[in-house]
Amino acid sequence: MSTSLLERESNWRRGSIPRVDYHCHISMTEYSDIEHPTVVSVTLEEFLADLDEAGIEKAVVLADGRTTPEQVSAFVGQAPERLIGFGYVNPVEQGASDEVRRQRNELSLFGLKLYPTSDGFRVNDERAFEVYEAATDLGMPVMFHHAGMPSPGDLLRHSDPALIDEVAHSFPGLKVVLAHLGYPRVDETLYVARKHRNVWCDVSWPYGDVNHPSYAYMLWRDLLTALNLGVLNKMVFGTDYPGVRQRPYVDLLMSVNRYAPHPDLRIPEERLTAILDENVKPLLPD
Ligand SMILES: [Zn+2]
Repeated sequence: MSTSLLERESNWRRGSIPRVDYHCHISMTEYSDIEHPTVVSVTLEEFLADLDEAGIEKAVVLADGRTTPEQVSAFVGQAPERLIGFGYVNPVEQGASDEVRRQRNELSLFGLKLYPTSDGFRVNDERAFEVYEAATDLGMPVMFHHAGMPSPGDLLRHSDPALIDEVAHSFPGLKVVLAHLGYPRVDETLYVARKHRNVWCDVSWPYGDVNHPSYAYMLWRDLLTALNLGVLNKMVFGTDYPGVRQRPYVDLLMSVNRYAPHPDLRIPEERLTAILDENVKPLLPD
């Protein structure tokens, strides 16, 4: 049975606020079996059907080493009312800031994704500063892949929250999104979000193995830390789609209180819902 457009829109929205998945790819390597990583790719039809199934209106689609900014631009251009494109550069390479401007002006990409762990740079490297300046001028949010990677050569030192602390302080006009809550340095990452007005975190991926209940426990625990630090309002929903699908991840988020052993340790339901919509407002196009 098909749902009407009106019904679909009321599923997406609470009042005028759209629900958003702020962390998606078109194609990615999936590492749930570390010895045998697999590549998962999706078509536009599959992508939109998965968003609809989860009651999510908009999604951020990220460029990366596998999917070029041109490919992201072409993909989101087919559904501009639903999809928001992010480009990609290695910011310590020569000419990176010009490339950022090109991706904004010629490819209409709204934000930027940087990969310090897999590209092997420190985020406070001065060679990256021109990229931060360009993104600030253009109003482009910059998302850092801010987590460990399973490959032995992707060094953890490149995802040190102390380095983000310096960038957020030096570029107060830059909107910084830390993907994956900084896993495994979640507490320090939340503290960086507490210190800086311009830092948000997405909850994508580390809790993505929804087939094991302990991941829901970990998400509850980390969101409780965020609540305690006063930064729950800076947590935004993301999945790392198509590695993690939206419907089970929304269900996981909304059910975390089952691990609260005492009523005082419950996270208010409206604060959980806000992760899906209200919190992300400052990070969306006008
Ligand atoms: Zn990702």
